[in-house]
Amino acid sequence: MSDVLIAGGGIAGLVTALTLHQIGVPCTVFEAFPDGEPRGVGMNLQPNAVRELYELGIGGALLNSVGIPLREWALVSLNGRDIYSEGRGMDAGFHWPQFSVNRGQLHALLHRTVRRRLGNHALVMGNRVAGFDQDADGVTLYLDNGRRARGALLIAADGLFSTIRAQMFPDEGPLNWGETVLWRGTSRAKPLRTGSSYVSMGTPDKHFLIYPISHPDRDGKALINWVAAAKIEEHPARYADRWMRQVPASSFLSYFDDWRDLWIDAHALMGASATAYETPLVDRVPIPTWHQGRVVLLGDAAHPMYPTAATGASQAIIDARVLGASLIEEGVTPGALYAFDDKLCAPVSALVTRNRSDGRFELLRIVYERCGGHFTDLDSVVPPREREDFMLRYTRATEFAAEMLNTAPPIIPPGARAAVA
Ligand SMILES: Cc1cc2nc3c(=O)[nH]c(=O)nc-3n(C[C@H](O)[C@H](O)[C@H](O)COP(=O)(O)OP(=O)(O)OC[C@H]3O[C@@H](n4cnc5c(N)ncnc54)[C@H](O)[C@@H]3O)c2cc1C
Repeated sequence: MSDVLIAGGGIAGLVTALTLHQIGVPCTVFEAFPDGEPRGVGMNLQPNAVRELYELGIGGALLNSVGIPLREWALVSLNGRDIYSEGRGMDAGFHWPQFSVNRGQLHALLHRTVRRRLGNHALVMGNRVAGFDQDADGVTLYLDNGRRARGALLIAADGLFSTIRAQMFPDEGPLNWGETVLWRGTSRAKPLRTGSSYVSMGTPDKHFLIYPISHPDRDGKALINWVAAAKIEEHPARYADRWMRQVPASSFLSYFDDWRDLWIDAHALMGASATAYETPLVDRVPIPTWHQGRVVLLGDAAHPMYPTAATGASQAIIDARVLGASLIEEGVTPGALYAFDDKLCAPVSALVTRNRSDGRFELLRIVYERCGGHFTDLDSVVPPREREDFMLRYTRATEFAAEMLNTAPPIIPPGARAAVA
């Protein structure tokens, strides 16, 4: 038996299915949602993940139909003045762009691609995974409708609230609450600055960022994704049991009442969104292994992380590809899951921990503490040398990442296949 079972058909599950198909491993995805309707708003795909999508045949034209290459990342003051900016993607020396995409549309694209390449039978929708058993010969997956499936391996890509992870690590308890709530939405507006800039502003307690997730129409307007975050010690969102909850703007706009008269009317932009989604800022303390025999965790199920560096979805894609490479090396065996875990668990756990700090956004706090977030002369608030020193470790890391990625061989060598029993 060589069939691989995949729990969860989100970004990680679908890219895993496409990767397994590419290397000749049969698989079936079990997804709780009954359909492949687009769900979600904006998210970023880093150049390393974009490279993998290209290598899966999901190239620039397709990604441009669900998003736009990001050109710039910028921090601005509450009165709209530049604090820091840098190029992104190819503007930062990568051979592949960084894409700001509409998560729902990217997901729908992956869904269609899986159906077309693997066939309808490979995507079992409306089937919630309830648990598993494993023995020397394989894994049995139990669904909450009483059905079951048998396979050689189980890949748990069932996201933030993973049922499989809860069975593997029953003592873990709830997600770690970061005392912050995020609201996301989209509005149509003219893109700022380069036309594809990720622009952030904030105080120690509140943060707002925007970036376009579509190319502009003839009127010059694009779909602009916004994310607003507020530090709140206790909030019902903390107890969420799914990724996003639709909420009326009236439920959170009052946190941003003092953000009406800034250089951008953040309040009005949020209020203009047809729909807003609420998510708590949560993650988990990393675990020493994602692997148990014939079962392995991947994507958010393995490493839920704060969105500080916008790396969650990209890491899910890289996971799927590294898993594919491990299956090529070790065959469809528990050894492949061990090899995957061995390659990724420790470095990605370090990334989860790094994402708990504010990273480059820390500069917004420094500016706020020195001048209340409004200034006319940045140099008198944070001298150029101090800014340069502060950013140096991040810019060096980006240069290093670009050099590494540009010279790295493909994760999955072209034409490589896994040995299937
Ligand atoms: C509906 C939705 C909307 C999102 N919107 C955004 C967004 O706007 N911006 C953003 O940055 N990130 C968003 N995310 C999160 C983002 O997709 C992930 O953080 C990232 O892509 C990692 O992907 P993943 O596949 O590991 O997790 P996810 O994308 O969360 O996928 C997990 C999948 O598993 C399914 N699932 C869960 N439990 C079970 C079960 N027991 N049985 C079967 N299937 C199960 C879920 O329905 C989901 O399809 C969203 C996730 C979801 C589920």
